[in-house]
Parts: sequence; structure tokens; C-alpha cells
Amino acid sequence: MNQPMRYLSGLFRIDDSKPELLTAQVRAYHRQIPLMYLVTLASSAALGVTFHDHAPMALTTVIPLLLAAVSVARLFIWRRARKKRITRERAVRSLRSVIRFAGILGIGFTAWALALFEYGDAYARMHVAYYMSITVISCIFCLMHVRQAALLLTAIVLVPFVVFFGLQDQLTFRLIAMNVALVTVAMIFVLVNNYRDFEALIDSRTGLIDKQRTLEHLHGEVSAIADMDSLTRLPNRRRFFADLTSAMTRVRDSGGRLTVGVIDLDGFKPVNDVYGHASGDRVLIEVALRLGDTAKGVATVARLGGDEFALIMAGRQSDADIRALGVDICMALRQPVRLDELKAQLSGSIGFASLSDTTATAEQLYESADYALYHAKRHARGTPVLFTSHHEVAIRENSEIEQVLRSADLEAELSLLFQPVIDVDTGAALSFEALARWSSPRLGSVAPSVFIPAAERTGNINQVTETLLKKALAEAASWPDNIRLSFNLSAHDITAPDTAERLGAIVDADPFPWARLDFEVTETAVMQDFDQADRTLSALKARGAAVALDDFGSGFSSLSYVHRLPLDKLKIDRNFMADIEAKSTSRNIIKSVVDLCETLGLDCIAEGTETPGQIAILRRLGCRRMQGYYFARPMRGEKLSDFMAGHARIRPAAL
Ligand code: C2E
Ligand code: CA
Ligand code: CA
Repeated sequence: MNQPMRYLSGLFRIDDSKPELLTAQVRAYHRQIPLMYLVTLASSAALGVTFHDHAPMALTTVIPLLLAAVSVARLFIWRRARKKRITRERAVRSLRSVIRFAGILGIGFTAWALALFEYGDAYARMHVAYYMSITVISCIFCLMHVRQAALLLTAIVLVPFVVFFGLQDQLTFRLIAMNVALVTVAMIFVLVNNYRDFEALIDSRTGLIDKQRTLEHLHGEVSAIADMDSLTRLPNRRRFFADLTSAMTRVRDSGGRLTVGVIDLDGFKPVNDVYGHASGDRVLIEVALRLGDTAKGVATVARLGGDEFALIMAGRQSDADIRALGVDICMALRQPVRLDELKAQLSGSIGFASLSDTTATAEQLYESADYALYHAKRHARGTPVLFTSHHEVAIRENSEIEQVLRSADLEAELSLLFQPVIDVDTGAALSFEALARWSSPRLGSVAPSVFIPAAERTGNINQVTETLLKKALAEAASWPDNIRLSFNLSAHDITAPDTAERLGAIVDADPFPWARLDFEVTETAVMQDFDQADRTLSALKARGAAVALDDFGSGFSSLSYVHRLPLDKLKIDRNFMADIEAKSTSRNIIKSVVDLCETLGLDCIAEGTETPGQIAILRRLGCRRMQGYYFARPMRGEKLSDFMAGHARIRPAAL
């Protein structure tokens, strides 16, 4: 096909690759269709009247009525189609029918008008010329948005018109033919241009709609990403709180129970520290999978950040159901994680809280679960804890303690008791451990296990530790040279980067020698930030102090981390002591710890020894350094010289 032909056929084609253009064409044309038929029918009626007395009845009445019937049928089709939604297929069909009717009626009306011509006088013939040209021009304008139909009509009506009138004898008709030919050319030009503008307008609007759709799609994807933890593909913190808020509304409206669980991993941090972040990430993915599997169908799991996960449980679950899920989760987490060269032993603690009348916000519900988790970690590691009214009371008490602590006169209210570590071979005290006491004028005496964590929460812990260290050093100044001072550091102390410097300055300013100082740290505190703990302890050790690992065996224990720390001593947690007389497993554990200490060159100290039976067993297992109520309860500084002089109840021979 050559170029002009291709162009011409393009003008008549229905391009169904642009559905928006098709529907816009149909819509525009639908608005004009009644007007077009009205003009055509009225003009045809007028022509019929003009020829009424000249032409046969078939031409003046029958044929026009037939053509009118077809037109009315067309209008009915239009009325029905108008109400339907315009789909791409419907638009193509509709346009085809417009073109078809334009062709049929165009031929029909043209043939009719030309057939009348020979019956008329000059006036009537003039009416034919006038009728044909004016009516077709108005129809072409009405069909402006359906270029194919408009051009077809031009070809069907105006070409015969120009030829017919151009061949007439009268000059007037020939001139009219010429005139109409010119008008036709101008009209085609305007029509094609106009249609092009219309097409461009629709295209640009479609482009805008496309862009908007792309943007909406992108927005959807972005918010999906913003709601998802990219590592584990679990819902993230943001999504968790959004879901929890809507679940709260749902449960409040339609009843049921809503429970939040907060899960914290023990032993994850060391994996990260020892094996690197890539391995840590793989462990987290494994944990996410296990949590998802265990909670499947019961609760939805989210990752709140780091090694903290949470779940939302909605339904009619009982306390027992919640605990059962908690136990399952703890069990799933305790299975060793094996990934290539890495074998990690994790465990998890979990705290639950259910929506109650006093819970106002999602954050509050989460905080209750987090408090239960905190309890689980302190008192029931590796087991689920459900938030109860007791915890609510404890929270209130804690917040009171925190408030009083903030404005406490630490210098006046804090004091120390001292408890000896005994060498059972000689019966002599090797050192005294300083144990803090807080006597508040408002609250009375508060246990260190309560106020030390409170001071960590309020940010007072630095002043607390510094005040206590100064007091301990002052007390120890009068002790014999062979007696050491043991001082406890809190989790915050050993994970704060400036601790070694701050405490170092206090010890430096005191005559008490570094070489007689022990710093005690718990393994759970070390695990919070292994690297920083390592740095702090190494710095203290570099100045001459010794480091003891306290409460060994109470939390997540892995002997493999012990030798990575700069340790000198290891204190076996007092919880083991209660069982050693009755249970061989406790004895076996103690035996292996004693052996480990010997291998690593560490001093081993058994804490919490209360009975001669325990002491005898410990001695048999190879442990010689002990601390406990059997030897001495923590005592005031002024009692120490008496104690050292009398050696109280310690009779090595009697043991
Ligand atoms: P800890 O360091 O393990 O201290 C030993 C705790 O066991 C002391 O409790 C002590 O009174 C108690 N104890 C000693 N012998 C026996 C025994 O034979 N049987 C029993 N049942 N208990 C015994 P205390 O003084 O209430 O201290 C509790 C915890 O508070 C300490 O545990 C330590 O973690 C923390 N703490 C105490 N003083 C300080 C301090 O100055 N700084 C910091 N950061 N923490 C301290
Ligand atoms: Ca201690
Ligand atoms: Ca201890």
C-alpha cells in the first residue's frame, strides 16, 4: 500500500489499541445523535412538502417514511446503549454501527433527494441542492468525533452531489457544485485537524490517568514495604501497632479477648557479636519462621526491631491457651539453630497482656506485655508470664520508687553492708562484697534488686554506683592488706562506654589499691552488649582490678562465651545450692563449672551456702571459696573487724 492510501485507510480505521479514545468518541457522539436525526428528519420532511404536488407519492411519502423508520430504530438503539457502561468491546461495536448507519442512511437520503430533483421546478430543485448540502454539513458536524463516519458521509453525499450538480446545464447549479466542493475541502481539513486535537486531548488525559495509576500502585508498594520488616518479611513495628489499634476497636465493638505477646531472645546478641551480622540475620529469619509456624492459626507475629518480636492473639482464648502458646514458643526457640558452621543455642522469654477496661491505647497494652516480659526475664527465664493485677500494683510501686529515687539524697540514704568470701581451707575471709542498701525516708528500706533496676530506668544509676563505690572504698581503707573489696556493677554500668573512665577516676582518687579490687558483673548484663562489656571490663582489668562473673548459671549460659571475657573469677549462682544435697544433676553441673574454672585458671566461688551439708559437698567437688549465710550475713562496716578477729562460726576442722 502506498503512502497516501495508507493515510486514507488510517482515517477510516477504528484503532482499538486506545480504549480511552474509543469510549471518549462514543460518549461525545452519543450526546449529538438526537440532534443530528432531528435536523435530518425535519429537513427531509420539508423537502417532502416542497415536492408534494410534483413528484409521485412513493417518493414524497413512502420512501421518506421508510428512511424515517430506520432513523427512529437507530434512535432506539441509541437510547438503550446510552444507559450501559461503555466497555472497550461495546465502544468498538457502537462505532461500527455508527459508521454502518451513516453509510446506509447517507446513501438512502442522497438517492432519494437526487431522485426528486427531476420532478421539481427551479425553486424545488434549488431546495434539493440546499437540503442536501446543509443537512449533510450539519450531520458531519454532529459526527465530528467519529472521523470515520464523518468522512464516509462526506464521500457518500457530497461527491455525488458535486458530480450531479456539476453536470447540470444551468450555470447556477454548476457554481453551487463548485462552491460545495470548496466547502467540503475546507470542512475535511477542519474535521481532520479537529479530530487530531481531540485524540491528543484524550491521549494526554489517558497519560495522566496512567501516571496516576502508576503512582497509586507505587504508593501501595511503598506502604507495603513501610509496613514490612525487610529481613523477616513479618509485619514491622508500625504495622504491629496499627493492627493492634484496629484489633482493639474490633474487640471492644464485638467482644472477645485480645492478647499481646512480646518475645525477647536470650543469646542472640552474642551470636551477632561472635559470628557477625550476616549470621545474626540468618538466625533472626530462622526465629521468625519458627514463631510463624508455632503461632499459625492462633496469633499473628511481627518483628518490632532487633531481636524483639511480638504477637497479636484475638478470639476467645483462655489463660491456659495463652500459656500453652507461650510454652510452645519457648520450646520452639530452645531448639538449637544450625546454619553451616554456626550452631547457636537461643532461648526466648515471653510476656503476655490482655486488653482490659483500664487499657487505653495500643502502646499501653504493649507496655503491660513488655512488663510481663521483664518479669519473665528476671524470674522465669524461658517461660511465659501473663500480666496480672499483681504486676499492675508492682508497676505503680515501681513508678513511685522511681519518683522518690529521682529526688533522693543518695549520699545520706545509700549505705553498704559487707558479706565475706571465705576460704574454707583456712576459714579466713578473702574479701568482702559490698551490698547496697537504700533507706528512704518516704519508702523505708528498699531492696537493691528493686532500686538498682529502678535507678537504671530513671538514669540515676551513674550517681548511685559512684556514691556506693566511694563509700565502699572509704570503708575498705581500714581493712588488712590481704582482704579484697568486691564491688557489683549494674548492667548499665558495664554497657556504658564511659564507665571505666568514671569509676577509674574515683579509684584513682582513693588510696585503696586497684590490685585489691574485684568488680562483679552478671552474665545477663554482659550479654546485653558483649563488645562494650568486653571493653569496659578489659579497661578495668588493665588498671589492675580483677573481674568476677556473678550469678553464673542463672540465665542463659553458654560456657563458650566465658572464655571470651577477661575474667578472673566465677561465682556459681546461689540457686544451685538449694538442690545439691538432693539432686545429682546440680552436683554434676557444679562439678563441671569447678573443672572449667580450673582449666581457665579462674577462682571459683560458691554463693548462697547455708548448710554444712552443702559446704561438705562443695568441698568434695573441689570448691574452696564460699559465701553465704552459713558463714555470715551481709553486715555493717563496723562489724567487720570483730568478724575478722573472731572468724565467727568458721571452724575449718568442723567442716
Ligand atoms: P548478688 O550480687 O548476687 O548478691 C548476693 C545476694 O545474695 C545479696 O542479696 C545477699 O544478701 C544474698 N545472699 C548472700 N548469702 C546468701 C545465702 O546464704 N542465702 C540467700 N538466700 N541469700 C544470700 P542483696 O544484698 O539483697 O542483693 C541482691 C542483688 O542486688 C545482688 O545480688 C546484686 O545483684 C544487687 N546489688 C547489691 N548491691 C549492689 C550494688 O552495690 N551495685 C549493684 N549494681 N548491684 C547491687
Ligand atoms: Ca555480687
Ligand atoms: Ca550473685
